[in-house]
Formats: sequence, C-alpha cells, structure tokens
Amino acid sequence: MNSDYLKEYSKSADANTMFDAEALTEQQRELIAKVDEYGVAWAERAFKYDREASFPTENYDDLKEMGFLGLCVPERFGGLGADYRTYTLVASRIAYYCGSTANTFNMHNANALWTADMVDAMNLTDEQRAQQDRNRQIHYGNMLAGKIYSQPFSEGGGAAAGKHPFGTIATPTEGGWLINGKKIFASLSGAADYYGVLCTEDVENPSYADTMFIAVPAEAEGVSVVGDWDPLGMRGTVSRTLLFKDVFVPETSQLMPRGVYIKAASQYPHMFMTLTPCYIGVAQAAYDFSVAYLRGEVAGVNVKRRMYPTKQFGIAEMYIKLQQAWALFHRVTSEFKRSPSRAERLRAYACQYTVMEYCAEICAAAVRVCGGQAMLKTFPLERMYRDSRCGALMLPWTSEICIDRLGHGLLYNENERDD
Ligand SMILES: Cc1cc2nc3c(=O)[nH]c(=O)nc-3n(C[C@H](O)[C@H](O)[C@H](O)COP(=O)(O)OP(=O)(O)OC[C@H]3O[C@@H](n4cnc5c(N)ncnc54)[C@H](O)[C@@H]3O)c2cc1C
Repeated sequence: MNSDYLKEYSKSADANTMFDAEALTEQQRELIAKVDEYGVAWAERAFKYDREASFPTENYDDLKEMGFLGLCVPERFGGLGADYRTYTLVASRIAYYCGSTANTFNMHNANALWTADMVDAMNLTDEQRAQQDRNRQIHYGNMLAGKIYSQPFSEGGGAAAGKHPFGTIATPTEGGWLINGKKIFASLSGAADYYGVLCTEDVENPSYADTMFIAVPAEAEGVSVVGDWDPLGMRGTVSRTLLFKDVFVPETSQLMPRGVYIKAASQYPHMFMTLTPCYIGVAQAAYDFSVAYLRGEVAGVNVKRRMYPTKQFGIAEMYIKLQQAWALFHRVTSEFKRSPSRAERLRAYACQYTVMEYCAEICAAAVRVCGGQAMLKTFPLERMYRDSRCGALMLPWTSEICIDRLGHGLLYNENERDD
C-alpha cells in the first residue's frame, strides 16, 4: 500500500508539527515514540479494516504487546499511569496512523481515566472508597492482562446528550445487578471483553443522578450483538447494537460508586473531550499526506504539483486551520482539572467544535488540493475524508451541542435568567 511516505514522518513526532518536542515530558516522548514504532504497520492495515468494516484486532494485539491496554491505569495499580493530557497526546498520535484504532482505544481508556483520580477526588464514604478500590483493582487487572473494555452509552434518544436518564436499567439483585436495555453505536461490539455501560439504577422516578457505570462481561448470558455495520466512516470501530436481557453482573462490576457519575460529569467537563485527539490526529494525517503528495513523494503517483500557486494557497489554508486547532487543543488539554473556571469550560467546547469541524474541512480540502488520483482507494485520503465526518456526531459533545452550550454560556452567567 501507499504508506511509504509515512516512514519518514514517523521518525519524529516533532518533524510533522504535531508536538513541540521540547514541551513534552520524558514519559510523553517515550509513549509517542512507542506508537511511532508500530504506527506505519497500523496505517497499512487501516485499508483492510476500512474495506471489510472489521475490527483492528492485529493493532490491539500490538497495543497489548506494548502494554498500552494499561495506558491510563495508574502506576500504583501497575499501569503506565498516563494522565489526561498525556493520554490525549498519545491518542492523537495513534489516530495519525489509524483513526478507527484511536476511536475505539478512546472507549477502552475512558474506563480507566474516569475511574481513577477523578473518583478519588470525590467526597466518598470510607465504604465507597473501599468498594471502589476493590472493584477497580479487578478491572485494571483485567486491562493489564489484555482485556479490552468499551464504553456504550448511546441509546438513540436524548440520554447520551444529557437530556434524560439512560433507558438501560440496572436493577439491584442478590449479589449484584440485573441489566436490561439496548445501546446503539457500541464501538468494539463483538471485540471488547467488557462493555462499560452507562445505565440508570432501577428506582422510583429516576433522574440523571441515578446513573450507574457498570462493566458487563461480553460473555455474560443475555448479552447479544445485533444489526449490521456498513457506515460511511470509522468503519473499523464496528459499532453495532448491544442488547442486554436480564444480564446478571456481580457487585464488583460497578466501575463507580452510586451517584458519582453525575458529579464527575459536572465537575470534570473535559472527560467528554477524549475523542478530540482522534480527530486532530486524522486532520494531521490528511495534511501530511497532502504535503507528501504535492511534493511528489507518494509512491504510485510521484508527480510534483507543488509549483502551482493554487496548490500552495490550498496547503497554506489547511496548515493555518491545523495550527489553529492544535493551539486550542494543546491549551485546553492542559486545562483538565476538577471544577474548571467558566472560561475553561467554554474553551473546551470551542476546542471540541474546532477540532471536529476543522478535521472535516481539512480532509475535504485535501481531496481537492491533491486532485483526482489522490482519492483512489489505494491511498488513505478518501478514508480520512470519510472518517473525518464522524467527529462532529459524537455525543455528548456533538458540534451542534457545543455551539448550543457556547452560545448560551457566553451570553448568560451561571443561573442567570431573563424572567
Ligand atoms: C463511528 C462511531 C462510533 C461511535 N461509537 C460510540 C461508542 O463507542 N459508544 C457510544 O455510546 N456511542 C458511540 N457513537 C455514537 C455517537 O456518540 C452518537 O450517540 C450517535 O452518533 C448518535 O446518533 P443519533 O442518530 O441518535 O444522533 P442524534 O440525533 O444526533 O442524537 C440523539 C439524540 O440526542 C439529542 N440531541 C441531538 N442533537 C441535539 C442538539 N443539538 N441539542 C439537544 N439535543 C440533541 C436528541 O435527543 C436526539 O434524539 C459512535 C458514533 C459513530 C459515528
């Protein structure tokens, strides 16, 4: 396949303007270098996963070998201990090589990121702390042993957008919970070992505060994967529908204590921004492909086009958007904290919107700027173009929801009304 040009780009993350090497920590540099070791092979395989709409199993075998299934598992539990910012940098580099791998890897890592320091910072009882420590020891242990977790929360209605409680129900029962419900767009369906399901505790008049986060083993009785999967983009995510019918899970399946999810969601808004790295990585990949292509360095075409003023204009416009997106990305991913300021929250929406929209715009521009042959399926560009369309659709922070919240948040102070 035509990924040869990547061999040069993969030598140093700094070479292609993704990161300022000086600003990276040693751990970040090492993790990114590790991704670069494997990345070109992922870029090669991406053609097959896209064509077949199949899960990137071989890439996950690599991630296991690299120890990356424990990327966000804290060091005290035996993991690599990547914090939020480090995760976002590593994930963007994975996406640079294969969007579907990064998109799905996000789901896996959210199960670790959301259940570690964020939960520890909450006001928990001693009993809740003990329960959380016991449960995550089990789940982090699973991750370190190579088990893959996913994160299905979408149900097709307003729940994933925060409009009403999840329709998937967890009913307390002897020794655990019974799960009933349905999740759509469940990335890693059929590939994950555990589905980290957001659901509602079975109480009278449930509210969003009754949200539970529970790991359901894929092999549990009553779990089924249904429906086909033949989407426009991010085809390797294999996001089919999951059904849960009276699925029993033990108490240890609880990934967060009761009532904590809603607090985490309001106190740590950046937790919903973990797919941003995936799409900035895709944008960078489309840009780098275009530079190589116009320079005549992509095998199979090798015709220089860089001398035409319109090509130079086109690539400059792409670069400007990319740099705008990176500037916001680096700032906002460094602002992750508990209870960020109003300005930081609003900036996070602006970042998510910018990255998702610019990714699609940069990929679309790349197809035009490179020209006809570049959109053949022997090249990665047309896949990036299709993959890039998915970013804006990701709940709970779709582009539309970001704009809605920004528009309101900029004009109204907290709790301010017109009446
Ligand atoms: C490739 C891919 C992989 C995915 N992987 C996962 C995954 O692993 N886990 C997961 O949970 N989801 C996943 N998703 C789903 C994604 O996050 C969305 O939930 C999904 O795209 C929503 O589809 P929909 O047609 O229901 O969308 P929409 O109609 O956009 O949204 C559903 C509901 O959200 C509310 N809503 C939508 N727009 C607004 C608005 N502007 N203002 C207020 N409310 C609004 C409405 O109530 C609407 O009925 C994936 C999606 C894709 C494309």
